Amino acid sequence: MADTTPQIMLVHAAPQLRETPLGLYIHIPFCRRVCPYCDFNVYARQEHLVPAYLAALQRELNLWAERLRHRTLQTIYLGGGTPSLLEPPQVDKLLETIFQQFRVLDGVEITLEANPETLTPEKLAEYRAAGVNRLSIGVQTLARHGLKVLGRAHRPETPMAALRAARVGGFENVNIDLIYGWPGQSRQDWIRDLRTVLSWEPEHLSLYALTIEPGTPYERGVRRGVLHPLDDDTMAELAELAADLLAAHGYEHYEISNWARSGNWRSRHNLIYWRNGYYIGAGAGAHGYLDGQRTVNEPIPARYIERLQHNELPIVQSEFIDQRTEVVETMILGLRLVADGISATAFRARHGIELAELYAPVLTELAALELIEWDGESLRLTPRGVWVANEIAVRFLDPRGTLG
Ligand code: SF4
Repeated sequence: MADTTPQIMLVHAAPQLRETPLGLYIHIPFCRRVCPYCDFNVYARQEHLVPAYLAALQRELNLWAERLRHRTLQTIYLGGGTPSLLEPPQVDKLLETIFQQFRVLDGVEITLEANPETLTPEKLAEYRAAGVNRLSIGVQTLARHGLKVLGRAHRPETPMAALRAARVGGFENVNIDLIYGWPGQSRQDWIRDLRTVLSWEPEHLSLYALTIEPGTPYERGVRRGVLHPLDDDTMAELAELAADLLAAHGYEHYEISNWARSGNWRSRHNLIYWRNGYYIGAGAGAHGYLDGQRTVNEPIPARYIERLQHNELPIVQSEFIDQRTEVVETMILGLRLVADGISATAFRARHGIELAELYAPVLTELAALELIEWDGESLRLTPRGVWVANEIAVRFLDPRGTLG
């Protein structure tokens, strides 16, 4: 059958794209110990490198600022790793550099990821005074046996104390991360975690399904048959249970793994990622996406520091994203936004292409299966579609419609 779907035309990025929100991600790759399921770019017992690392970060930020002085940062995100291993004066200095070197939006969102056992009331108040206005606490679970199996350092009672101290310290915007699907987790464990955390009334919740990542101790445990992750049906049941409970408590499910209380508490930084927007990635192993180019920094902290001592950007990989790839990425990331979905108008403005024509057969088929809602302007997953989001995303990989 003849392929009648239009081909993507290569066009230059629309001028307004240069004014799209710009985020800044800063990676702090240090952790007290490495959790057995984690495959992030993180290192234990390297904390002696922190001062040199922060000096290198300052240099990297200066180099980016020279190139981007005319752009306005809308979000700043200190992720890791464990950024809360940094002392407040160190965070203060980092933020001061950013405010001196970049144009920064009034009311910029500044997030700091924290592990509960690293927080004290004094530290929290000082982070807040330094300008951090959003705290993301890695709780993961409150079950004693869960903390043990996940290799986490905190005790079950530590997160609540941290959250209370954060409120006293002036944090009005707090996210809690939870993980479900850890070996041995029961339905009751999960309900207890959710109910307890909901009683703290955080503004935002991220619920992550445990995934077994290659090269981790968890993967080796599964291969040897000593670790038993939950089966897919149980995982789906836990996910559904959470979605119902959070909806009943008034949280909006706006991204596959993320919920926010009503009133503008969505993660503005992560929304930049899901809208396939631009962000600078600074720090060891950080990924960035700027003006059509994806970048990856040197991952090893000592080498990253060395690169910056020569005053050069520590990029070890970069790739210009062609328009076809950019379209696919916009689709795959945008489908994660289960509340807003993808707007055909925004898609046309960005890519100069009609979404309806580009994906006609796929849209018709998935709508007939009630996996997506598509009214010609807005495309989003249905509640049924959310459970098979990965399978649906695959259907949008080929924008020329060979799936039809
Ligand atoms: S604390 Fe977080 S970043 Fe650090 S090892 Fe554990 S999961 Fe990974």
